[in-house]
Amino acid sequence: MEEWDVVIVGAGPAGLTAGIYCGRAKVKTVILEAMSPGGQVLTAGAIENYPGFPGGISGPELMGRFLQQVKELEVPVKEFCQVQRATLSKDRLLLETSSGAFGCKALIIAAGAQPAKLRVPGEDRYIGQGVSFCATCDGFFFRGKEVAVIGGGDRAAEEALYLSNIAERVYLVHRRDRLRAQRLLQEQVLRNPKITPLWRKVVEEVLGDQGGVKALKLKDPSSGESSTLEVEGVFVAVGQVPATEPFRGLVELDERGFIKTDDRCATSCKGVFAAGDVRAKDLRQVSTAVGDGAIAASSAIAYVESL
Ligand code: NAP
Repeated sequence: MEEWDVVIVGAGPAGLTAGIYCGRAKVKTVILEAMSPGGQVLTAGAIENYPGFPGGISGPELMGRFLQQVKELEVPVKEFCQVQRATLSKDRLLLETSSGAFGCKALIIAAGAQPAKLRVPGEDRYIGQGVSFCATCDGFFFRGKEVAVIGGGDRAAEEALYLSNIAERVYLVHRRDRLRAQRLLQEQVLRNPKITPLWRKVVEEVLGDQGGVKALKLKDPSSGESSTLEVEGVFVAVGQVPATEPFRGLVELDERGFIKTDDRCATSCKGVFAAGDVRAKDLRQVSTAVGDGAIAASSAIAYVESL
């Protein structure tokens, strides 16, 4: 069993920031990452609202810089290390992972979130054959084709804008008659001639054949009227599911599975802190994840020093 002062779960913006703070405080820290460092930000084409980068910066480049800073502080990042279960035993936290067991005095959960599914017939069947959750990953397959983006938040707006540079036409299918995305993104979407919003429409089914997606079956929830939209790609952007399953039972979650914290990022379990998209909060941005990471790390450092 490896013993550490602080274990950070997740190497997205929140986890890497926490790593920088713990590294600078000379606290014995390791970061465990289920995939490769960077988190969901790796799928962002351009980040235009993170201060210090006028004109924007690509997600991978920004995360590369975070990681470089962590490495300069000699905080190890263990990749492809999936946490399966976390428990508390007296003052010691135990983590069972795909790469063995870890013990620590303080735990920072910064495991992030994954895209939510629509949960309609055909969605799972056509994943990789027209259904995608990431325009920057899969958009190039749809050059010159007609595609749909589902959702009305920041992510849906960004996916639609990204795809408008590739696809022939982008239908933005939303269940309300206005977007919830930031005003600037809304304006960019609504004045983009390649994006056609389809208001008050819910997806009932993804239709296709052996060749992949061919259409969406839509329904107007107020009139009950059904329609078919012919598209070859469907980009689902209907929110996030937090990666909190391994911590269920250890910390208190809200009704959607996000971790409840106080304003020092402390959870209901002593010695356990949460940062970034896993935390129950209003604004999920790189900048707020960075703020969380700094607060969670300073709380964890103070906790370790108090033992
Ligand atoms: P979100 O803000 O939760 O928006 C999800 C959208 O999907 C909402 O418009 C919602 O509709 C719709 N929706 C949910 N379930 C649906 C269903 N079953 N069928 C059809 N539509 C459904 O999620 P997000 O856009 O993924 O963003 C997640 C977080 O990351 C947000 O805090 C966001 O601000 C942040 N983010 C920020 C940026 C940025 O700053 N540039 C970029 C991406 C994401 P309703 O409107 O009716 O609820």
